[in-house]
Amino acid sequence: MPLSAEDQHWLEVAREQAELGAAEGGVPVGAALVAGGELLGVGRNRRVQDGSAIRHGETDAVERAGRQPAAVYRRATLYTTLSPCDLCTGLTLLYRIPRVVIGENRTFRGPEQLLADRGVELVVADDEACAALMSSFITRRPDVWWEDVGEPGAPS
Ligand SMILES: [Zn+2]
Repeated sequence: MPLSAEDQHWLEVAREQAELGAAEGGVPVGAALVAGGELLGVGRNRRVQDGSAIRHGETDAVERAGRQPAAVYRRATLYTTLSPCDLCTGLTLLYRIPRVVIGENRTFRGPEQLLADRGVELVVADDEACAALMSSFITRRPDVWWEDVGEPGAPS
């Protein structure tokens, strides 16, 4: 199903973050937190750039949005270029973010069923540009990518 114009716009904002991350040599995942049509924060995976253990696209966007009242998260949408991993799924569940728009889940798929089981609405765009960013990175830096999701190497 094609995205609404609004979802398409915010996913592009997230993808710009992923592209910036790629240009910095980082894992190309970007995210944006939006509530009531207002952009609260954008972020990108900064594990390589900052030597960070927990700056994924989604955690970076939510951190950069700053401390928000619980009610704000509960009407927010989290846009992310890649299917959320265990960490970012936990973030979504903790703050009861009710809706996640995912750029693609072909190159990696996190625990989407867990999100769905907990009532989170998932919209998967299957966006070619998001997938191309990730496949290119995984091909070039498989070690960095698998480290990002807590794996010592590519699963056999
Ligand atoms: Zn993550």
